[in-house]
Amino acid sequence: MLNKLIADMVSVMPENLVWLFSKRYIAGKTLEDAVNVTLQLNGQGIYATIDVLGEYIKQTSEALDYKEGYIKTIDAVKNNSLKATLSLKPSMFGLLLDYEFCYKQIRDVIQRAKEAGISICLDMEDSSCTDIELNLFEQLYLEFPGTVSLVLQAYLHRTLNDLKRLQKINKPEYPINVRICKGIYIEPESIAFRKKQEINRNYKLCLEFMMFNHFYCSIATHDEQLVNSALELIKQNNLDTSRYEFQMLYGVRPELRHKLVELNHPMRVYVPYGTHWFGYSTRRLKENPRMVTHIIKALIVRG
Ligand SMILES: Cc1cc2nc3c(=O)[nH]c(=O)nc-3n(C[C@H](O)[C@H](O)[C@H](O)COP(=O)(O)OP(=O)(O)OC[C@H]3O[C@@H](n4cnc5c(N)ncnc54)[C@H](O)[C@@H]3O)c2cc1C
Repeated sequence: MLNKLIADMVSVMPENLVWLFSKRYIAGKTLEDAVNVTLQLNGQGIYATIDVLGEYIKQTSEALDYKEGYIKTIDAVKNNSLKATLSLKPSMFGLLLDYEFCYKQIRDVIQRAKEAGISICLDMEDSSCTDIELNLFEQLYLEFPGTVSLVLQAYLHRTLNDLKRLQKINKPEYPINVRICKGIYIEPESIAFRKKQEINRNYKLCLEFMMFNHFYCSIATHDEQLVNSALELIKQNNLDTSRYEFQMLYGVRPELRHKLVELNHPMRVYVPYGTHWFGYSTRRLKENPRMVTHIIKALIVRG
């Protein structure tokens, strides 16, 4: 109900007003903004993963601008000696339009990243992308094992099986880096857990599997319960800091992030930037019920 209310409100609000709420989740509209935020985070002992905002292109020609955006971002990370990786959404390179085209564009980006010593994470999108993206990841991992990583979503029933599939190609010298998160898209009950308890249970099962089977574990969550379970698993498995990191989104629960950094756990923050911010920020706004009060207040104040 609440999510729907926010979604309906946001879609009819002027873009400038939505930007007021969105900017807490986004470094800014330019590459310079992303570089500055990353420098601040690095100064606090935190790594970044920079994302050029954009998704679900309708024509393959749109991918070329994004590719240029990623190449410039790779160069900026290298030239500014940033401690940062990059994250990208394959649908922005035409994953759902033309697999071969998409593969070629992302491969060019990864090739450039490899030359710069930077790794790239393939974000996971809605379930229409899951199979194709797993194929894409496998193809790229076999070619660039230390340079590409993948996101999996604990809300999907299939995720533990997907990890088992990846285990078959996992090379001990280049452990597959999986960012395990809950999942943000709205999926049917037939394929996805809906209850928090069930999602968290599957999250823990997947994380345990990853730790036991020598994956690199990127633990992406702001859920304190899950963070505590992860800390327990890290202790039980005697996991060295070279085998895992926590990940959080820019603008979300900085106090929890600092707590983990103070305990010397590796931390990476997802730093999105760019002009195509609307889809990303509306998903974030829907996740945060307290935003409703702020939106209503701002609407009243602005008349
Ligand atoms: C680094 C990173 C990368 C991600 N990449 C992907 C991806 O590729 N594909 C995908 O489907 N999902 C991705 N996600 C999103 C993820 O799937 C969840 O939707 C999101 O992290 C919220 O789940 P949670 O585990 O934090 O738990 P929740 O139970 O949703 O949140 C725990 C607590 O965090 C706080 N919180 C959460 N969200 C917000 C918010 N927007 N604003 C303010 N407070 C908030 C609240 O206090 C909440 O109680 C990513 C998340 C992270 C951290």
